[in-house]
Amino acid sequence: MSQTTDKPRILTGDTPTGALHLGHYVGSLENRVKMQDEYDCYFIIANVHALTTRADRTDEIHADTIEIVKDWISIGLDPRKSTFFLQSEVPAIAELTWYFAMLLGYGRLMKNPTIKDEIRVKGLTDQYSFGFLMYAVGQIADILAFKPACVPVGVDQVPHIEMTREIARRFNQTYCGVKGTVDDADHVKAGGVFPVPEAKVGRVGRLAGTDGQNKMSKSLGNAILLSDTPKAVQKKCNKIFTGRGSTDDPPVLEGNTVLEYLEIFHEDPDRVAELKGQYAASELFDGHLKKEVGEAINRLLDPVRERRAAITDADALDVIKEGTARANEVAEQTLWEAKKAANYGFFEREFNLK
Ligand code: ATP
Ligand code: MG
Repeated sequence: MSQTTDKPRILTGDTPTGALHLGHYVGSLENRVKMQDEYDCYFIIANVHALTTRADRTDEIHADTIEIVKDWISIGLDPRKSTFFLQSEVPAIAELTWYFAMLLGYGRLMKNPTIKDEIRVKGLTDQYSFGFLMYAVGQIADILAFKPACVPVGVDQVPHIEMTREIARRFNQTYCGVKGTVDDADHVKAGGVFPVPEAKVGRVGRLAGTDGQNKMSKSLGNAILLSDTPKAVQKKCNKIFTGRGSTDDPPVLEGNTVLEYLEIFHEDPDRVAELKGQYAASELFDGHLKKEVGEAINRLLDPVRERRAAITDADALDVIKEGTARANEVAEQTLWEAKKAANYGFFEREFNLK
């Protein structure tokens, strides 16, 4: 395994609430693939956080965990360069979650716009569990346990990264003597345990779903999956919401999801310009654009499908077991440093997977 420690680190990941989709690709995966040579990458499968909406469906979470490893490898992430690991088997994360929860105000958490949005969009009303709110604190621990310089994410995650930055500062100021005047970039130099990590948003921070309303999301049934067959992709593209009622109506040029997808997924800008011109002039209609979009997405996904077909469940498990062992070394070390700094460290310990 080629782990070089002098590279800056990144931490990011996905929740196993379903297989990954094109939103993940343009929001985060594409950046990860680009960054994996220059950065020491840690990719987390947030299986504990999947319980927030699926505590009664752990079999699904288990199956989706394997699917996500396959998605990652098939999209071009390389487990020989990067560390893939499972959140539930890194206990230092759960412990840091407790300590960070003590530094985060309840009111502050409830003002996080992504939490509010998730409650609304996922229809959780006031029935969400206590654990649902804990996931936002847990995510701070997922990140800071690895002391990353940067976190590649979609736009919806930026409020979480902002909370992470606040907690890193607060911890360093409360326990490590870092002054409030110290720049974010200098916290570790000034004696802080945690860096103040930066969010790195992908080429498309928020890809709309095929419904044209919400962000593409595993939980909302509006996603084109990386693992969809060519036929399924075209079928989903045919249903993309374009805002146009009938061919007698004028074409909708603003906020039209099929035009957005064309710009994002078609590899030839000249062809995109030509199609847009013809569409605006009503020389061609929704159906034609949907077909071209489906074909462009399938060209992107063909090599991904080919790689995926070669990965077995056993391969995927081996990859996360090895990565999780490595992740534990880093997270245990961070936890010990944090406990020593805060003077709640009593006994150093070792942690091993069987
Ligand atoms: P869920 O509905 O279960 O929350 P999700 O589809 O939102 O699932 P996550 O696992 O929460 O997926 O997100 C993983 C990463 O992918 C995050 O960095 C998130 O910002 C990014 N991401 C997810 N959906 C999109 C999207 N539609 N556009 C851009 N980035 C996205
Ligand atoms: Mg999400």
